[in-house]
Amino acid sequence: MHSEKCVRCQQDEPVDDHGFCGHCRVVVLGGHAPAPRPTSDACIRCRDAEPVGEDGYCGYCHLAVRVELEKGIDRFSRYLENQARFSQWLDADR
Ligand SMILES: [Zn+2]
Ligand SMILES: [Zn+2]
Repeated sequence: MHSEKCVRCQQDEPVDDHGFCGHCRVVVLGGHAPAPRPTSDACIRCRDAEPVGEDGYCGYCHLAVRVELEKGIDRFSRYLENQARFSQWLDADR
């Protein structure tokens, strides 16, 4: 179902898949969208402490993110292991 009017202003004809008119498209996509950029005076994760590294994390968050990352990698390698076992099982069945 296509509406004939811009989904935002309900006035102009939509020009893109999102249903925005040309004006609203600029406003929504290029306008006041807050750009998340690391500030130099607060940690980008907790926004509570001073960042210590170039990635913008404070000491605590730096560690926390690393631990989370390692947990993720651990899960991912277990997933790959299961996949390998599964394909072995498939091969054996042939
Ligand atoms: Zn519009
Ligand atoms: Zn932090």
